[in-house]
Amino acid sequence: MKTITMKFGGTSVGSPEAIANLVSIVKESREAGNRVIVVVSAMSGVTDQLLNSVKMAASGNKWGYLSTANKLRDRHDDALNILVPPGENREKALVQTKSLLEEYTEICHAVSILGEETARISDAIVAYGERLSSRLVAAALKARGIEAAAFDAGDFLVTDDRYQNATPLWDETQSRIDSRLMPALADGITPVITGFIGATRTGTLTTLGRGGSDYSGAIFAAGSDSDELVIWTDVDGVMTTDPRVDKRARVLPYVSYQEVGELAFYGAKVLHPKTVQPVLDKAIPIRVRNTFNPTFPGTLIGEMGEPSVTVIKAVTSIKKVSLLTVSGKGMIGVPGIAGRTFHATASAGASILMISQSSSEQSFCFLVTDTTADAVKHSIETQLAAEIATRDIDRVDVRDDVVIITAVGAGMSGIPGVAGRVFSTMGNNRINVIAIAQGSSECSISFVVAESDLERAVIALHDLALESVSA
Ligand code: ADP
Ligand code: ASP
Ligand code: MG
Repeated sequence: MKTITMKFGGTSVGSPEAIANLVSIVKESREAGNRVIVVVSAMSGVTDQLLNSVKMAASGNKWGYLSTANKLRDRHDDALNILVPPGENREKALVQTKSLLEEYTEICHAVSILGEETARISDAIVAYGERLSSRLVAAALKARGIEAAAFDAGDFLVTDDRYQNATPLWDETQSRIDSRLMPALADGITPVITGFIGATRTGTLTTLGRGGSDYSGAIFAAGSDSDELVIWTDVDGVMTTDPRVDKRARVLPYVSYQEVGELAFYGAKVLHPKTVQPVLDKAIPIRVRNTFNPTFPGTLIGEMGEPSVTVIKAVTSIKKVSLLTVSGKGMIGVPGIAGRTFHATASAGASILMISQSSSEQSFCFLVTDTTADAVKHSIETQLAAEIATRDIDRVDVRDDVVIITAVGAGMSGIPGVAGRVFSTMGNNRINVIAIAQGSSECSISFVVAESDLERAVIALHDLALESVSA
């Protein structure tokens, strides 16, 4: 008997029709003799609504967060009334929705009295999205004869207390999965677990960062020793580029863990960047499939680098980044400037997306998320105050109107001239390349262009990827 963990994203639980598809998918897999663990996101748009309601509560906008509660109740109740026939199962789920939303309202009241929001409170509020959808999905499964039960991941997924970006504590999580989840699975129950959320050792709710339900799916797949993790989403699989940027995007039948890790890190929203980590050691295959096209096989993600003609497999981009440049003649040969700069960046709470150094050693640049740029600049200027005073360092510049473009493909390593082709393609399209970095894995090349060139750069590079696919 196989165990399959299936994660369904926001759109896949976003409407009664989508949930009906989910139920059929799970039912079919159960009937084929599999044990199924379901991990769900909040209904599409709900996480944004809840984050917004935290702000409204903190600013005393009582009408705002109460109206969100009403909208959420209507949306979940409407779906329940469509998916679940009248009776005990429906009544129980309606009561659960009501009491979760009462709790939500109480917390919002408390925030509005205090007049301030913290990351910790925000996580407690935002968790209602998945807590609501999991009850709805469990009831819909039960209505079709599947013995399902909703579970809050806060009971199993133990994390540190970095609210809004928590990291799992593996040993504790594993032992709770063993003692609290596996017995239910062995009893033939299909657990419906909240994605995205966890809790500290003492039980305070945390979240894994935006898009984190994929990561939850992978954590439960690994913790339950699943035979497969299926990410059910709203596109046919991992594609050669974001179909919203270039309609010609094609589904990739196979990508390696390493390739998908690079793709996700460099902006392909289809998977959370950490998804691969938990399943890597156990080599659990991941499939990315479309809830709205369930007969399509989707993309398989696995261990093997594929020997193929595909050089550039896919193209991604990241917006909302800032380019920081540290420059000065006095930097030449001075050890430690880069190290101190990166240390200052980390202490400002930012992580670096890409680094590039000019060969003259008179400057180097790196990219961080735009929301952290000012804090990073300030932190570096404080750290390098002495060098700035003696003019060994001229300045720390910040540029916001840029994006990172990345070409990914394991076939790049060992094939000479790929970078040359990439950059001559940019040149032929009169796109100015501001900075370049090649991943040490040789599985990706990233570069920075002006934001206004994003679409043209992706499309031009995507031409190269499509050439490889059809070759
Ligand atoms: P879910 O709610 O199911 O987690 P997401 O919206 O987080 O779905 O991710 C799916 C979206 O990712 C797709 O609708 C697509 O627009 C976007 N996307 C970006 N890059 C890619 C890519 N290379 N392949 C497939 N989808 C991509
Ligand atoms: N609901 C969360 C979000 O919107 C997590 C997820 O969907 O993966 O970010
Ligand atoms: Mg997602």
